[in-house]
Amino acid sequence: MNKIPFFDLKRVYEIERKEIEQTVLETLQSGYYILGPKGKQFENELKNYLVGNESGAVIGCNSGTDAIILSLLAMNIGQGDEVITVSHTAIPTITAIQSVGATPVFVDIDPESWVLDVSKVENAITPNTKAVIAVHLYGNMVDVKTLKKVLSKIPNPPSLIEDVAQAQGSTMTNIQAGTTARFGCYSFYPTKNVGALGDGGAIFAKELVDEAKLSQLRFYGQKDRYHANIKHGLNSRLDEIQAAILTVRLKNLERGCRTKTAQMQTYREQLSGLPLKFQKITDGCSPAWHLAVIALESEKVRNDLQSSMESKGVQTLIHYPIPTHLQPAFVGAKYDNLALTESLAKRILSIPLNVGLLANEQQVVIDSIRSFFKSK
Ligand SMILES: *Cc1c(COP(=O)(O)O)cnc(C)c1O
Repeated sequence: MNKIPFFDLKRVYEIERKEIEQTVLETLQSGYYILGPKGKQFENELKNYLVGNESGAVIGCNSGTDAIILSLLAMNIGQGDEVITVSHTAIPTITAIQSVGATPVFVDIDPESWVLDVSKVENAITPNTKAVIAVHLYGNMVDVKTLKKVLSKIPNPPSLIEDVAQAQGSTMTNIQAGTTARFGCYSFYPTKNVGALGDGGAIFAKELVDEAKLSQLRFYGQKDRYHANIKHGLNSRLDEIQAAILTVRLKNLERGCRTKTAQMQTYREQLSGLPLKFQKITDGCSPAWHLAVIALESEKVRNDLQSSMESKGVQTLIHYPIPTHLQPAFVGAKYDNLALTESLAKRILSIPLNVGLLANEQQVVIDSIRSFFKSK
């Protein structure tokens, strides 16, 4: 039986192998390994990809988690401050909030789009609210424009961060994900839409003052060598080898998005009529899919389907099985009713979607789902 892996990183590597190996070799021989020309080039190219000639800057860093931490630090957010976001996200969103000492405050998701329910944010705001993190999940986006309007009506409005780790390349009315808020935080974890071969992250900052601060924060809090200027600096830099690889991957991002859009379309067509749901795409959003997630009627059906697919050699995952507000590490977070988050986590299943997945393999995935429901 041929096994169909959820994501075969080695196979995806092979697609760009020549380009990657050449640029890595050049970098190794260049004598620059940290904060050199490759890093600068990648930052410039990502900035141009995101906003062209418009204002703003990209600052590379060590990971998507650090991108969020650095953004929070740039706003002096810490102990006693509250940051509103969703519980239905990857753990690192919340780890980042916690690691600056702030308190995560959770609001529920929209039952159809599975991302932050913008209408619930206002009620969660207190005088301590300093920021809201909009997490664009699986490729779908939060309606950031409407959220911005909601926040602008609050006295001393909290700042907005976009967690773009799962939606690099997605657009909302032709505007790139991560460029509408004050900060956009990108992750280059190997499986993400632009994946490094190691760790990497970046922040898009609209304001020049933020750019300056972020550049210092990622560099021990130094203004320049030997002059520590600001508190709470980190060592969080995108190294030259990863930057060189990412320049190749960024160039091929659109191609990868097209492949995954076609795969998603195939899933939506060939699984229609079955008792399962796909994420509703937020109005105006054109998603760059990171994950293909279906929602089943109940936890039992989800678990049975997962076992049945497994027995046919199809690997699936759950993003995420335990909402972050139920994780022991995040006791102390504030929330009210997260019924939709808790219900969804029990019913979702992520099925294979990536540029290494072959058409005949996708057909096996589809057939394994169809035959499960036929035999029921
Ligand atoms: C992957 C991910 C992160 C963290 O990125 P790292 O580069 O692994 O630190 C943050 N938020 C979300 C939603 C993610 O999926």
